[in-house]
Amino acid sequence: MTSPRVRFAPSPTGSLHVGGARTALYNWLFARRHSGIFVLRIEDTDVERSRRELTDQILDAMTWLGLTWDEGPYFQSERSAIYAAAAGRLLAEGRAYRAFETADELEAARKAAEAAGKVYRYGGSGRSLPREESDRRAAAGEKFVIRLRMPDEPIVVQDAVQGRAEFLPDALDDFILVRSDGNPVYHFTVCVDDVEMGITHVIRGVDHLPNTPKHVALFRALGAEPPVFAHLGMILGPDGKKLSKRHGAAGAEEFRAAGYLPEALVNFLALLGWSPGEDRERMSLQEMISLFSLERIGPSPSRFDHEKLTWLNGQFLQAVAPGRLLTLLEPFGLPARDRETLERAVALHLSRCRTLRELAQALRIYGDDPTEFEAAGMKKFGKPELMTSLRALASRLAAVEPFAHAKMEDVARALAAETGVSLGSLAQPARLALTGSLASPPLFEMIEVLGKETTLRRILAFADRIEGRAGAS
Ligand code: GLU
Repeated sequence: MTSPRVRFAPSPTGSLHVGGARTALYNWLFARRHSGIFVLRIEDTDVERSRRELTDQILDAMTWLGLTWDEGPYFQSERSAIYAAAAGRLLAEGRAYRAFETADELEAARKAAEAAGKVYRYGGSGRSLPREESDRRAAAGEKFVIRLRMPDEPIVVQDAVQGRAEFLPDALDDFILVRSDGNPVYHFTVCVDDVEMGITHVIRGVDHLPNTPKHVALFRALGAEPPVFAHLGMILGPDGKKLSKRHGAAGAEEFRAAGYLPEALVNFLALLGWSPGEDRERMSLQEMISLFSLERIGPSPSRFDHEKLTWLNGQFLQAVAPGRLLTLLEPFGLPARDRETLERAVALHLSRCRTLRELAQALRIYGDDPTEFEAAGMKKFGKPELMTSLRALASRLAAVEPFAHAKMEDVARALAAETGVSLGSLAQPARLALTGSLASPPLFEMIEVLGKETTLRRILAFADRIEGRAGAS
């Protein structure tokens, strides 16, 4: 294939949601696979709904995902002169025409069609208006729109993913390219830009398939061969309905804030419609690039499986280098501990966590001493009669040097044997004392990371608290 040119063309009326991110990714993978160019174009002609902050958010999210663009961003709002020139050319060549019907006239025609039980189509009266008359009325200041002269033959779209679709002429009327206020419509700007930017493959959501016959006609009117189209199947939520906010997080930024890694999200999105074969799941970017092809994209909708994304994220998380992990954890808040302690804590908790947020949460026990204690645990293990052995454990731990977990465990077992208490009645109150909860990683490994001073302080404060409370009652 000669080097392709593809584009991602978001409208900045919302942040980068999962569907948009997948579209961007497929374009990016395709460009990288074939040493092509990935163009970024911001479709911000809807001035009412487009917002600059949303553009910035989209660019940020793409950068975070690693979807770097080679050209752009181009802003449609800065390209009015290009659209006006294209409209002028189409008019001059007779491929488009001015239509002077007023809104009221169009409305009446629409009502008449409805009353007759027909689907309304523009009647095309402007088609036959002589050029001189059209020019004269326009010069006299009469309002008009510009419409495309549609061909009287079926339009066939040979889609690389959805297959062949044929659209009959009576299903397509001479649609508007430029509104009476002079603003070009979406279909027009997209096609003018795709031609002007030399786009060879249009990869986008299947919701744009119904627009495609219009685009094919426009490309031809503009004197260009239509690009290859590849329309990606819908993304559905777990209930089988189109994925949306209702299903929880649906934006790239939300996943970022929830502690997902870009490489996991990218891998997950890649599999929403594309199958690399051989049941491959976890892949590096480089592997995805080398395997990517439009032929292996299926036409059906895909289901967004949150659980699978989280699983995949856990897999990627285990593979992140410890140094980088700390940097990634920073935005989620890290306890004020030295780097070595933090790295040891991460190593201890990593295998039990699937997101950065979960991991940061788990590391909180290495920060401030706990002030809240889980109620169920307190009921069972916050008892004054267990405090004597807990204090004894503290004094045995105080003597352990070096402060290593295997030695601590020996000491605790010996204490349990000597005093006739079970290891659990030593360990569970210790867990509560140290973390505020009964869920913790292997106790002595955690104690080793916490350090002697913190461990003793927490245990003794806890015992005081339990005994003090018992004394007051
Ligand atoms: N701006 C359109 C959208 O955000 C995309 C148009 C296209 O890809 O052709 O849905």
